[in-house]
Amino acid sequence: MQCPYCNGESTVTETRPTADAEGGHAMRRRRHCTVCKRRFTTYERLGAPALKVTKRDGTSEPFDGDKLLRALKRVCAHRPGLRDDDLRRLARDIEATLVDDVLGAGRKSVAWSDIARLVLRRLANVDPVAAQRLAVNYTDESGDVRFEAGAPAATTQLGLPLPPAEGDPET
Ligand SMILES: [Zn+2]
Repeated sequence: MQCPYCNGESTVTETRPTADAEGGHAMRRRRHCTVCKRRFTTYERLGAPALKVTKRDGTSEPFDGDKLLRALKRVCAHRPGLRDDDLRRLARDIEATLVDDVLGAGRKSVAWSDIARLVLRRLANVDPVAAQRLAVNYTDESGDVRFEAGAPAATTQLGLPLPPAEGDPET
C-alpha cells in the first residue's frame, strides 16, 4: 500500500483483527513508510481471496474465517470457560497471524495442516484440554495434524468424544 504522505512503499508492522462500521470482519494495520518513515494506520476489510488455503488434494480455496470458527466450535464444544466470543477472538487472531505470516512473506496460500498447527499452539494457551482433544482427534497416522474434513479417525480416544459435525469444515 502506498504511503498517504509521499506515495512511497509501506510495510506492515502489525495487524490486528477488528470490526468495521457494520460490524464486519476487518483488519487494522500499522504501517511504516519505507521512504519518509512516517507511520500510519489503515483499516481494511479482509478480502477473502487474498489468502488461499491449500487442501490435501492439491486444490486451493479462499481462506474462510467462518469455517475456521465452526471447526473451533466443534473442537471446543462443551468446554467450560470457552465462550463463543472467546472462540471468535481466537479465530480472528489466528487469521490475523496467517495474513501477516503468509501474505507478509510474499506467499499467497497456506496448508490446512499449517493452520491446524497454529490453532493447536494458540488453543494450548487458553484451554489445554481442548488442544489435546484437537491433537488426538485430528492427528493422522503420519503425525500431521489435520484440521480439515474427513472423518477424524477415532472420535473416542482418551474419552474425549467429538460432537457430531455440523458443517463439514472442508467441503
Ligand atoms: Zn511516506
